[in-house]
Amino acid sequence: MTLREEKLLIDGQWTASASGETFETRNPATGDVLARIARGGAEDIDRAVAAARRAFESGPWSRFTPADRQALLLRLADLLERDAEDFARTDTLEMGSPIRHTRGSVAMLVDLLRYFAGIARAIEGTTNTTSDPALFACTVKEPIGVCGAIIPWNGPLWASVLKLGPVLASGCTLVLKPAEDASLTPLMLARLALEAGLPDGVFNVVTGFGADAGAALAAHPGVDKIAFTGSEVTGRRIVEASAGNLKRLSLELGGKSPNVVFADADLEKAAAMAVVAAFANSGQVCSAGTRLFVERSVHREFAAEVARIAATLKIGDGLDPQTDLGPLVSARQLDRVCGHMDDALGAGAQAISGGGRLTGGAFDAGFFFPPTVLIEAQDDMRAVREEIFGPIVATLPFDSEEEVVARANATQFGLGAGVWTRDLGRAHRMSRAIKAGSVWINCYNRIDPAMPSGGVKASGYGREYGRQHVEEHFQTKSIWIDTSV
Ligand code: ADP
Ligand code: MG
Repeated sequence: MTLREEKLLIDGQWTASASGETFETRNPATGDVLARIARGGAEDIDRAVAAARRAFESGPWSRFTPADRQALLLRLADLLERDAEDFARTDTLEMGSPIRHTRGSVAMLVDLLRYFAGIARAIEGTTNTTSDPALFACTVKEPIGVCGAIIPWNGPLWASVLKLGPVLASGCTLVLKPAEDASLTPLMLARLALEAGLPDGVFNVVTGFGADAGAALAAHPGVDKIAFTGSEVTGRRIVEASAGNLKRLSLELGGKSPNVVFADADLEKAAAMAVVAAFANSGQVCSAGTRLFVERSVHREFAAEVARIAATLKIGDGLDPQTDLGPLVSARQLDRVCGHMDDALGAGAQAISGGGRLTGGAFDAGFFFPPTVLIEAQDDMRAVREEIFGPIVATLPFDSEEEVVARANATQFGLGAGVWTRDLGRAHRMSRAIKAGSVWINCYNRIDPAMPSGGVKASGYGREYGRQHVEEHFQTKSIWIDTSV
């Protein structure tokens, strides 16, 4: 069998990287090499940005009406629906997520594209009443221009669609840099966009590593806006690199999200969802509920129930439809997670489920880590402060609402938060007191195209999904007309 070879998409052409270099991508469940991918660098980014600029300023895309852009987004949604199974399987193969999860994701992304297609027709400026009766004053929304997107590996198709949708809805153009661990579905999406009739240069994909392709895109003077999803450390680098031409930025930088369970909650439902909140996608979710605060009177029992459910999850190759938890994405990620695990145990935490890498049989070839529930953890342990991006949850007892608010907020992050209670007043108080971009009451990690999502504090800024997401791709122009002339 010949190995799949993938090239860069620049200006509608599939091209090798300027350096001719490639890198391999592997199946984390088996270690098998899946494809050889072009390793793009600064020169490729240059060409892609130039193509995106031409497409934005003077190509056929610059004459697309809102109706044209809507039709294109709807065609793309239909094509993604047609090829859903291929997309789901490819994400599962390349980054390990269970096929049930990736299938569900593709269905939601089809819906998300259709949502953006709607927004493409609903862009509005304002007419402003000033204090000068002779003045006609209005604002118009103009697309920002060339956008760059740098995305992580934990949901490669998801992140690609989420970056592309508002770009197409607004009339901007895009250079996308996928994560080196998961390039295949972003490239497949680009292929579909061409099939849908997207003109050359509107959507360019430069695969490669963060330090060269990513850094070049972040610093490029021809890029007007960068949308970045990834680690907080890399986020800071993106901010620094953006200073050269004062790019607009939107950053989604992960978290250490609290999930707070009061004793009066529907504890059965809360425990079942605490498992999903912490372990979905093997914990490789930015808004994973990794600090599980439980009211002291029910803490032991609740932690034991979460561990019991966790132990029933089936771990294995994501292609198996029975699999609940796939492997971690890479050997590097497995090392990170094991490092945090050792650290937590060394600091006095105890694992009441999981607790170390899975080995033996098929596990040896892949990067498998079981769902792990910690007790005897402390707020100041590294594993409780830092984002792990693996299936480890710390259960932390608390005594009062006031105390848990203070502890939940005692983090540099602020992405998501869960609260479980039947007390209506408390639900409202908690939703306002927790410093996070999203608060889920009696649910967790809900996503809807119409609901904005993003962070506060070190979890980043800017919002994705919803009308605001598309609006962040526009700038406002104020037009003043003196009607007395
Ligand atoms: P991880 O540590 O899991 O690789 P990152 O936040 O570093 O998480 O990666 C997210 C994305 O950022 C990836 O596409 C990666 O290639 C890219 N990236 C990494 N370093 C840089 C950098 N210095 N500049 C721009 N992009 C980068
Ligand atoms: Mg891989």
